[in-house]
Amino acid sequence: MHVLIVGSGISGLRLADLLSDTDVTFNIIEARDRIGGRVLTETPSNENYFDLGPTWFWPEKEPKIVDLIEELQLSTIEQYNNGQSLLELSDNNPVKFIKATEVNSYCKRIEGGVNALVQAIYQRIPTINIDLNTRATAIKRNEDQTFTVTAVNNRTEGERTYDADAVVFTLPPRLLFENIDFTPELPETVKVDLLNKPTWMGAQAKAVVTYNQPFWRKDELSGNVISWQGPLREIYDVTTPNGDSALFGFFGLAPADRKRETLASIEDKVVNQLVRLFGEEARDYKAFYYKDWSQDDYTVTPGDTLNIESFPTYGQPPAYIDNVYFAGTEYDAKNGGHLEGALASAEQTFNNLTHQSMTKER
Ligand SMILES: Cc1cc2nc3c(=O)[nH]c(=O)nc-3n(C[C@H](O)[C@H](O)[C@H](O)COP(=O)(O)OP(=O)(O)OC[C@H]3O[C@@H](n4cnc5c(N)ncnc54)[C@H](O)[C@@H]3O)c2cc1C
Repeated sequence: MHVLIVGSGISGLRLADLLSDTDVTFNIIEARDRIGGRVLTETPSNENYFDLGPTWFWPEKEPKIVDLIEELQLSTIEQYNNGQSLLELSDNNPVKFIKATEVNSYCKRIEGGVNALVQAIYQRIPTINIDLNTRATAIKRNEDQTFTVTAVNNRTEGERTYDADAVVFTLPPRLLFENIDFTPELPETVKVDLLNKPTWMGAQAKAVVTYNQPFWRKDELSGNVISWQGPLREIYDVTTPNGDSALFGFFGLAPADRKRETLASIEDKVVNQLVRLFGEEARDYKAFYYKDWSQDDYTVTPGDTLNIESFPTYGQPPAYIDNVYFAGTEYDAKNGGHLEGALASAEQTFNNLTHQSMTKER
C-alpha cells in the first residue's frame, strides 16, 4: 500500500514516523519551503530559541507528547510562574497584582523550542521523501479505487500528479474545504463540518522581545500579564536557561487592525506596553520577533481572522470515501487545537490505515 501525506506539520510527520516501521510506503507533499507547519521557532543561536507558534505542553493532561518527548530524549523547561502577575484593565484603572497561577497553569516548554521536536521526529524517519513548495489542489478517485492528487509547484507554478492507494490530508479543515477540489465531490454534511472547524489560533499573532536579563524577576514579577489595554492581551516569560531572557505575548489587537500597521509600528506599540508594565528597563531590548498567523495562507482562510469566542467542537467529519483520511489537530475530539491533538489524530489515522492495509492483504 502506498500513502500520500499532504502537509508536514506535527501530524503529518508523526504519521510518517509511525508508518516507517511498517511495510506501508509513503511520500509527503508540503506547500511551504520548510517542515513543521504551525511550529515555528526562531533560533538566533543554539542557546536562544523563541517559539512564534506553539510553546507549551501540559504534562498532567497530555500523555502522548510527554511520552514522545521522553522517547526522543528531549529536555524540557518548566514554565516560570513565580512571583506576582499583572492585570491591566482600562486606562482609568491602576495595574493590579494577581497570583501568577491565575494567568497560567502548570506547563512546560521544550529545550530548543518546539522545532526540536519537529527535527527529532523528522530525523528518526529512515527514508523520507518530501516535496517542499508543493501545494495540493485536487484529488480524484480513479476507477481502480486508487487516487490521483494534483499539486502545483509554488516556484514554477508547474503542475504534477501523485498516485496513491490512500491519501491523508493534514490541512486545517477550512483550508482543506477552500483549496482542494474533490472528485467525487464532498457530501454537504462534510463541507458544513469542515467549515464549522475554525483553525486553532488562526486569528492570533505572537511577538517575542528578548533581553540580557529577566529584570522583571528581581521585582518578584512572573512576567505574566493580562491586559485589556493592549496591544498584547497576554504576556509570559520565555527566558532560555542558557541564553537570552524574553517575554512573549498574544495580541488583543484584532487581525484587521494589525494588518493596517507596519512591522515597525507593531514593534513600537509592543515595547511601549512593556515599558508601561515593567518600567524603562524594558526599552533596552535586544531583538523583536513577530509572526501574524492570520496572514498565513497555509494556515488560515479569511473566515479565520475572527477571534474564536467559544471553544470549537473539533473531531472527525462524517465519512467521505474509503482511503481518504483527515488528520491534524482540528480532527481530534479530545485535544483538538493542541500539539497533543495533532499527535493523537496522527496515531488514530495510523491505526485506521494499517488496519485497512492488513484487510487488503488478506
Ligand atoms: C500562535 C500559536 C500558538 C500555539 N500555541 C500552542 C501551545 O502552546 N501548545 C499547543 O499544544 N499548541 C499550540 N498551538 C497549536 C499547534 O501549533 C497546533 O496544534 C499544531 O502545530 C498543528 O499541527 P498540524 O499538523 O495539525 O497542522 P499544521 O501544523 O497546520 O500542518 C498542516 C501542514 O499542511 C501544509 N499545507 C497547507 N496547505 C497545503 C496544501 N494545499 N498542500 C500541501 N500542504 C499544505 C501546511 O503548510 C502545514 O505544514 C499554537 C498555534 C499557534 C498558531
